[in-house]
Amino acid sequence: MKPIHYAIAPLHPEAHLFAVTVTVDAPDPAGQRFFLPAWIPGSYMIREFARNIVRIRADAGGEQVALTKLDKHTWQAAPVDRARGPLVVSYEVYAWDLSVRAAHLDATHGFFNGTSVFLCVEGQEDQPCLVDIHPPEGEAYRHWRVATALPEAPGRGGARRYGFGRYQAAHYDELIDHPVEMGDFVMGTFKACGVQHDVVFTGRVPNLDLDRICRDLKRICEAQIRLFEPRGERAPFLDSNRRYVFMTMVTSDGYGGLEHRASTALMCARGDLPVRGQAEASEGYRAYLGLCSHEYFHTWNVKRIKPAAFVPYRLQSETHTPLLWLFEGFTSYYDDLMLVRSGCITEAQYIELLAKAWNSVLRGSGRTKQSVAESSFDAWTKYYRQDENAPNAIVSYYVKGSLIALALDLTIRARTDGRRSLDDVMRALWRRYGRDFYAADAVQRGVTEDEVLALVDEISGLRLSAQLRAWTEGTGELPLPALFKPFGIAAQARKPARGAALGIKTRADDGWVRIAQVLDGGAGQAAGLSAGDLLAAVDGLRVAPSGANQLDKLLARYRAGDTASLHVFRRDELHCLPVTFAREPATEYQLQVDAARNPLRARWLSH
Ligand code: ZN
Repeated sequence: MKPIHYAIAPLHPEAHLFAVTVTVDAPDPAGQRFFLPAWIPGSYMIREFARNIVRIRADAGGEQVALTKLDKHTWQAAPVDRARGPLVVSYEVYAWDLSVRAAHLDATHGFFNGTSVFLCVEGQEDQPCLVDIHPPEGEAYRHWRVATALPEAPGRGGARRYGFGRYQAAHYDELIDHPVEMGDFVMGTFKACGVQHDVVFTGRVPNLDLDRICRDLKRICEAQIRLFEPRGERAPFLDSNRRYVFMTMVTSDGYGGLEHRASTALMCARGDLPVRGQAEASEGYRAYLGLCSHEYFHTWNVKRIKPAAFVPYRLQSETHTPLLWLFEGFTSYYDDLMLVRSGCITEAQYIELLAKAWNSVLRGSGRTKQSVAESSFDAWTKYYRQDENAPNAIVSYYVKGSLIALALDLTIRARTDGRRSLDDVMRALWRRYGRDFYAADAVQRGVTEDEVLALVDEISGLRLSAQLRAWTEGTGELPLPALFKPFGIAAQARKPARGAALGIKTRADDGWVRIAQVLDGGAGQAAGLSAGDLLAAVDGLRVAPSGANQLDKLLARYRAGDTASLHVFRRDELHCLPVTFAREPATEYQLQVDAARNPLRARWLSH
């Protein structure tokens, strides 16, 4: 059987249209079906990419073939006699979503994920694929290149590295796991443990310090490869490709990333990237390195060690797993830990990041109502679709998941006197579930919740599974103060501020202050404030988004227990609400590191 043959071309960059064809040599004699995924792995939300298909037709042997739409993302071609030649489906995809999750095209660059542009040939998902990537037509585009971890096709017509031409994938699952960037981008390259890594930046960044970025990423990547393979001999993506690609779209205020098996698509803010000659690392740059570290760690944890529910991915509807606390939470724990272990941030900066994560979980009362297992399961309808009630209803499986990883790691280290750690658990997960996931003869298997818990007991030699289950399926507080102690770190509860608090979050709206969120149990909720209200006055004084009449300046005149009247507009009707101010409810912690050398801490944070 011949491979499925795709071709994609930026048809009209100005109109944001990609033209795509898929050619099938042996279509289903009963009528071939095609569908586009409803979601992209790594981003757990139904996005219905097929809505961006603007025009679609099928042909065989020079004649049009009827194409019937079956549901929101599936088409069926009329049966075609094989003697008429291959079935060709041609369509245009509107690409104007500036994110890492979909596709984007204009005269400055093109970017796409396969999930946005490549129709899946139903029943032939396991067939090898060829992809011709064409440049846009015209002199203006002659400097454009291609960045992708898709392997170049061998032989005549095969693309040269970074060039337009023919690429290949072993099957549809691989095809949609290598995003493609095209344009006149800036590129750097480095080797980590002897393996090539490319770093691509799209967008204008004057005086970008590319050498420094490559230097820092090399340290992070090598620390991660050695975490899983202590001799550093086997980067995970050597199973599908010989290299890894970091592709970053730079904008004024972007932030985000999506993991793939041999690459990652990232967005970051221009101001976060280092300028040549600038010695210090800004907070923004540390966050960018943390993002790179996070997505790179996913190369092991979720792209190869996978939850059982994702093997295989079912791309036409939601796929629920209770385990995102492991795949996103533990990845979030290791992203910053790898920065300190590789020397990209200091120990003090790392401890500060831990305190920040801990306090952010403590600030949301959602943590008392939802476990991280529930948050994982409902990611599709809750975490990814947050509304004004989110802080009252949702706990982040990222942040609380990272604290559970921390609690587990500290527990294992303290109770084995530093002989064992969470690193051993991750390595065992890797050896049993991840290392051979994409091997040609492998029976692909994901991990279940029970298997993870049993593995933690087995590898640590301790009985921790009941405790871990209570942390992931319960809503109690994590015993972090006690767990920090053996590491020479003191957790001190910060005293709540004495001032008046309303328990609301606001945002500026056209000269007004609009209430964005009302926190459960706060004074604002008791007074009857609602999200969406325009907060007009406190005791007859106008509330303004800036200047002397800012809300916090007005509230500074009151103490907890004082009363006042609030004026709000709701649906343009004025209401006067009496309020009794309360104290800030949340307990926050500060972490203080003992200056004395602590062998447990040294082993944990250095490598
Ligand atoms: Zn992630």
